[in-house]
Amino acid sequence: MERLTLQPGAAAAIDEYLEYRRIVGEDDGGKLFTPEEYEEYKNKVLPIRLQNRLYVSWRSPTGMDCKLVGPETPCFCTHRYKQHKTDFEVIPKERPIYVPCRVSRCPCRSYHFVPLNGTQPIRCRCKHFAEQHSAAPDFSCNSCSKCSGFHSGFTCGCGQPAYTHETVVETKEERLAQGKPVGKDVPFAAMGGLTGFSSLAEGYMRLDDSGIGSPSAQLLESPVTNTDHPFLRALQGPSSSMQTNFQITDGGASSAMQASSLKRPEEDDMAYFERQYQERLKKEKAAKRGKNAVQSKNPWQ
Ligand SMILES: [Zn+2]
Ligand SMILES: [Zn+2]
Ligand SMILES: [Zn+2]
Ligand SMILES: [Zn+2]
Ligand SMILES: [Zn+2]
Repeated sequence: MERLTLQPGAAAAIDEYLEYRRIVGEDDGGKLFTPEEYEEYKNKVLPIRLQNRLYVSWRSPTGMDCKLVGPETPCFCTHRYKQHKTDFEVIPKERPIYVPCRVSRCPCRSYHFVPLNGTQPIRCRCKHFAEQHSAAPDFSCNSCSKCSGFHSGFTCGCGQPAYTHETVVETKEERLAQGKPVGKDVPFAAMGGLTGFSSLAEGYMRLDDSGIGSPSAQLLESPVTNTDHPFLRALQGPSSSMQTNFQITDGGASSAMQASSLKRPEEDDMAYFERQYQERLKKEKAAKRGKNAVQSKNPWQ
C-alpha cells in the first residue's frame, strides 16, 4: 500500500504533514498511516475528540487559569501532555478525571503541571527539582528522605504560591458553566486547555477572556532562527542551509511569510495554526490586491 509521502519540494505537503501530526499525535506508533488508515483514524477518532474534549489548566485559588496546558506542555513526570491519555470514548463520571501517562513504566497517574520560574525549573522545599521526585501519586523525593512530597513556595504571576494551584481537567460543559473560554472545536490531538492564540500567555497577561486573539505583526514578521520548530530543525539536517535557502528566495514579503510559518517551539500548538490561518488571510488579501503581490518561490529547493 502506498504510504503518505513528504515531497521536500512542496510547502503544501509540509502543511499537510504538520496537520497530520497534529491530528494523529503519536497514535500511529511512529509509522505514517496509509491514506486509507488515516481516513479510518479520522472517522473513528474525530467525532469522539470533538465531543469529548477535555480541557486542562493549572488553576489559581483565585479561579484564574494561570496556565492552559497544550500538547507540548511537560508534566511532573517529565513527559508531555500529548503522551498522556487525552482521548476518551466516554468521559468518566468521577471527578477528578485522571489523565494517565501512556509512556511505558511511567508511574504518573494523571497529568500534573509544574510551573517554571522564567525558564528555570522550580525547586521543592527539600531543595530538589520536580524531576528528582517520584511521578507516582505521592510525589516523594528520590534524592532525600526528609521530603514528604513535592511542595514549592514559588510565587506564580497571579501572586499566589505554586502549591495552592491545582491541575484541573474538565469538560466543555463544566468550563462553560464557569464562564471559561472553550474556543472553537478542533480536530487536533491533546489540545488540553488551548483555545486560541492568547492561550499561550500566562493567565495574568491574558487580557481577553475569549482566549482568541490574533498575533501581532511583529510576531508574524520576526525572522526564523535555529531554535525553531522541531520539524524545521529535523528537516534542516546537519547543515544550516535552511536559513540560507530562505534568504535566497525572492526576498520580499513571501519569504518572510514562509519563514515565519515554521517558527517557534513555544508556539507549537494552537498558535501555529492560528498564525498560519492569519498568514493565509494575509496572502489571500495580497493576492486579490495585485497580480504579482505574492509570487512565492519554493524555499525548499
Ligand atoms: Zn509520564
Ligand atoms: Zn505525567
Ligand atoms: Zn521534595
Ligand atoms: Zn528531596
Ligand atoms: Zn497563578
